[in-house]
Amino acid sequence: MYLIKTIKGDITKVTDVQAIVNAANNSLLGGGGVDGAIHRAAGPELLAECMTLHGCETGEAKITKGYNLPCDYVIHTVGPIWNGGRNKEEELLANCYFNSMKLAMDNGIRSIAFPSISTGVYSFPVELAAKIAVHTVNRFLQDNPDCFDLVEWVLFDTHTESVYEAEVDQLYKMI
Ligand code: ADP
Repeated sequence: MYLIKTIKGDITKVTDVQAIVNAANNSLLGGGGVDGAIHRAAGPELLAECMTLHGCETGEAKITKGYNLPCDYVIHTVGPIWNGGRNKEEELLANCYFNSMKLAMDNGIRSIAFPSISTGVYSFPVELAAKIAVHTVNRFLQDNPDCFDLVEWVLFDTHTESVYEAEVDQLYKMI
């Protein structure tokens, strides 16, 4: 069995998972928000490894080591920039979660923490993002029930945390 949960906090400080997910940009060479925080905490070796990856398409995911972070791995995924919902943003955000979970599973990672991908500078509406996030991960876990122990969202602010928490609670009412 696996556990799905949400917590409020800083994803760079999380100690109960093997991998954290970075809401990166197409260059994979660092940026602001959670991306900047992860690069600062991991140290310059993370940027050096990212430079060998030659970027990442929106909705895709790539893996690196965690360096000075408490976790072993960072999975870098690139969320869509919200443009009113006309540019396949929902599908691309679902791809971020699916491809991050798949990459984790293929690397034997059993515990993973996500931030709220795309809802910062990329402006994706939080309620819709949370629905897509929780449903995509839940479906993946149902299809691969023995592959994970823990999936958590680490949310930086109270409002975002309450939205994801409500979505996870809803899920546990259904199953
Ligand atoms: P994006 O460009 O995908 O929108 P951002 O980094 O701008 O990514 O924002 C994504 C979410 O990550 C936002 O809710 C933001 O508040 C949050 N965030 C920023 N720093 C951290 C951190 N250290 N740990 C967890 N979440 C963070």
